[in-house]
Amino acid sequence: MSEAELVLRSRRVITPEGTRAASVAVAAGKITAVLPYDAEVPAGARLEDFGDDVLLPGLVDTHVHVNDPGRTEWEGFWTATRAAAAGGITTLVDMPLNSLPPTTTVDNLRVKQDVARDKAHIDVGFWGGALPDNVKDLRPLHEAGVFGFKAFLSPSGVDEFPHLDQEQLARSLAEIAGFGGLLIVHAEDPHHLAAAPQHGGPKYAHFLASRPRDAEDTAIAGLIAQAKRLHARVHVLHLSSSDALPLIREARAEGVAITVETCPHYLTLTAEEVPDGASEFKCCPPIREAANQDLLWEALADGTIDCVVTDHSPSTADLKTDDFATAWGGISGLQLSLSAVWTEARRRGHTLEDVVRWMSERTAALVGLDAKGAIAPGRDADFAVLAPDATFTVDPAELQHRNRVTAYAGRTLHGVVRSTWLRGRRIVADGEFTEPRGRLLTRHP
Ligand SMILES: [Zn+2]
Repeated sequence: MSEAELVLRSRRVITPEGTRAASVAVAAGKITAVLPYDAEVPAGARLEDFGDDVLLPGLVDTHVHVNDPGRTEWEGFWTATRAAAAGGITTLVDMPLNSLPPTTTVDNLRVKQDVARDKAHIDVGFWGGALPDNVKDLRPLHEAGVFGFKAFLSPSGVDEFPHLDQEQLARSLAEIAGFGGLLIVHAEDPHHLAAAPQHGGPKYAHFLASRPRDAEDTAIAGLIAQAKRLHARVHVLHLSSSDALPLIREARAEGVAITVETCPHYLTLTAEEVPDGASEFKCCPPIREAANQDLLWEALADGTIDCVVTDHSPSTADLKTDDFATAWGGISGLQLSLSAVWTEARRRGHTLEDVVRWMSERTAALVGLDAKGAIAPGRDADFAVLAPDATFTVDPAELQHRNRVTAYAGRTLHGVVRSTWLRGRRIVADGEFTEPRGRLLTRHP
């Protein structure tokens, strides 16, 4: 056997070549070999045998709003990374907004890194932000190691992070393409939103009508046109409208460098079942109808949608009022995302290998983290141990994120995360956490 301090053994190890019984050798925080199940354990190495529980690569969640510093009463690095660890996530990439300061200059990035450093239970990287007036900051942020830049095409919900108009988008995208960077976009068109009926109040149907599919479709069409013209690489955040899928397929076929994500809530919750006044279900773009959801699953299956990320975006409970127009928009999903997606995936005939591809392999690839996203020699020894057939009922009291508001309360989900491992160390098992061992990650040069 190769060098090993630790051997993790399971009847079901998910590797890039498929699921098999294997022994995974680990030394100095890295996977050194994936060996037959009954390989001899070297003298001095510790053996952990998970039996029939599945060993899968730790999930990589590239869409998380930690809000720290500045809105730490909403969330923070300590609580968010504990929730993530409890849910089998070993790497997150933090969004540039809702914290104060936002991650829009190198100085601001340093402030955020300093806050995160001692609180991170998992590895943490950062997105930068593209604002109307910070084009000059984009290259320095890129060189400082952010994984790409987020922009909004419609109001973001916070005043300090204004959206880009088409001209500003073109300017930022040209700059980012100039250094080979990635622009990630909240794609809803402001004119279509402004033209939609704005009733306000507690009725979910009214909220849904206020954020129509064509707002997404139009914004995505515009983004594709710009990406094509500038030969730029773009990523569509939190796709909800299935009507945009044909545009995306067409752009791909023409060679436009576009990738797409969706979120657990669009895949597992439907507009038809959202109770009026229940703003724990409010997010933008909104959760749409069941028929729309079926098409999102089809697009995941055929690869049009690349990956699934949480868009964990909490606030304090008092901002989740029963008026959908004014309630904070955001769903907290870190701890439950694997189980929620797996529950619906298995019902639809998908495998855990599919889930790992969507939530670990492809998200790691999106941000170029080639040490993450797979159980293979040379990768970081980041794992989740999952009992895929075990079930649990979501009890908000057991959630680790700061404000225990959840759209999943009372749901019975499949897939219990038994333990999570970061660089060869168990960081949580059965609700018991170690001291934080996460590292701050930067983009590969
Ligand atoms: Zn978001």
